[in-house]
Amino acid sequence: MATTALLLRAHHPCNPSPPPPRTAIVCRAMASTAAAAAQALRSMAPPHRPELLSLDLPRYDPARSRPVDLAIVGGGPAGLAVAQRVAEAGLSVVSIDPSPGLVWPNNYGVWVDEFEAMGLTDCLDTVWPSASVFTDNTTAAKSLHRPYARVARRKLKSTMLDRCVAHGVAFHQAKVAKAVHNEASSLLICDDGAAIPATVVLDATGFSRCLVQYDKPYNPGYQVAYGVLAEVDAHPFDIDKMLFMDWRDSHLPEGSAIKDRNTRVPTFLYAMPFSPTRIFLEETSLVARPGLAMDDIQERMAARLKHLGIRIRSVEEDERCVIPMGGPLPVLPQRVVGIGGTAGMVHPSTGYMVARTLATAPIVADAIVRYLDSGTGGVTGGDALAAEVWKELWPTDRRRQREFFCFGMDVLLKLDLPGTRRFFNAFFDLEPHYWHGFLSSRLFLPELLMFGLSLFANASNTSKLEIMAKGTLPLAKMVGNLIQDKDR
Ligand SMILES: Cc1cc2nc3c(=O)[nH]c(=O)nc-3n(C[C@H](O)[C@H](O)[C@H](O)COP(=O)(O)OP(=O)(O)OC[C@H]3O[C@@H](n4cnc5c(N)ncnc54)[C@H](O)[C@@H]3O)c2cc1C
Repeated sequence: MATTALLLRAHHPCNPSPPPPRTAIVCRAMASTAAAAAQALRSMAPPHRPELLSLDLPRYDPARSRPVDLAIVGGGPAGLAVAQRVAEAGLSVVSIDPSPGLVWPNNYGVWVDEFEAMGLTDCLDTVWPSASVFTDNTTAAKSLHRPYARVARRKLKSTMLDRCVAHGVAFHQAKVAKAVHNEASSLLICDDGAAIPATVVLDATGFSRCLVQYDKPYNPGYQVAYGVLAEVDAHPFDIDKMLFMDWRDSHLPEGSAIKDRNTRVPTFLYAMPFSPTRIFLEETSLVARPGLAMDDIQERMAARLKHLGIRIRSVEEDERCVIPMGGPLPVLPQRVVGIGGTAGMVHPSTGYMVARTLATAPIVADAIVRYLDSGTGGVTGGDALAAEVWKELWPTDRRRQREFFCFGMDVLLKLDLPGTRRFFNAFFDLEPHYWHGFLSSRLFLPELLMFGLSLFANASNTSKLEIMAKGTLPLAKMVGNLIQDKDR
């Protein structure tokens, strides 16, 4: 009875509970202001309006009964790059995608030398002669003397489609639901009821991983980012430099929950300034497991823009980026061949992939052509052909390289903001050969070990201790995986 009376008193409106302490009120007010600022930022983004290319794509004839040589599921950069090359060699190719004529939605950034090496510089729309990195609040930015560019995604897709059309690729607008295999060929069942027979099937469906199978638990890290292409009153960045990473956190109030979250799992600003008033701004969590919530990233971005004095006049488009990084490779080999996001090709420590995929597409395409055309070594299709192609996509040196990059990701996952800053201070002070090679997947195992040693030698004493403390387990995991892989 006495207890009931106490409870009644506590909940009676005439007996309000004691006021929360002032600091709690201030923190709650800051949290709701940050959420409101993020909401205001989101509300400026126009509804997503997909851009259509004005191209007449030759249709696949569903009445065709003979299998096509190659069916490619997914018309992203990976799928189209292989389609054009295999068709150029005279084989029949069908590209299946739910929206083959739409411009790709992502804002791709690449190092210019990567596109130069593939003769694709005419598919870049803006080039910055150098890039910059802020590692902390007080030190001047580091200058990276390596040109960076935004890919002209409309031009790249239309160039690739033009080449596909010129070489006879047929297009089927649908989603593939499943594949049924027999010894020599496969049948792709689409969501519009079409059934497409093919000798070889290539899964290029990006992170939706439509057909490629995995047999280990899928436990990637996630890069999560929110970006806006915006007209602004002004911004503080040099338009001759792209901002590769800005790890400053002076925009976050001392003692606030948001600052605390950022210290534990930091985000950085990535920016492509096109003019004094037009800029692409993206707040990015490099890698986290589980991935950071989009709302949290938007709150950090709104706070950063306010602090930098960037007032947005209008948003042309926004981008929500979720990239799975690392995790196991698909089953090697398996009947369906893969390339791009579906085949584990994203760089596990950076989230980049487009340049490496475009560079690898000819290797995959040429292997398919070689085995289909001439039946090299008696291999003409089915599991044997798929096994040969997987071998060329993931040869031993590439698998070892990826293992090292996954080790890099595992270390990054453990670093808080101060640790991340120390890491990138050492990383960008390396000889360009090392950091260029690491970011562009050009270093292989012996050189990667030299890279690791140079990074360690370059690191501050605190960072050395940190790398030893946080890197030992991931190192042991990497060595274990390398040994297991050798036994395969
Ligand atoms: C927002 C964002 C920004 C990125 N920015 C960069 C960057 O700046 N630089 C970089 O190097 N990398 C970047 N990446 C990473 C990576 O390069 C891209 O994800 C790239 O688009 C992957 O290419 P892809 O061809 O493998 O897959 P996607 O480009 O994802 O293409 C897959 C295609 O398959 C289709 N598809 C899916 N399921 C089916 C199905 N069942 N049947 C038929 N078709 C299907 C889809 O509609 C899509 O057209 C970014 C990723 C994202 C998400």
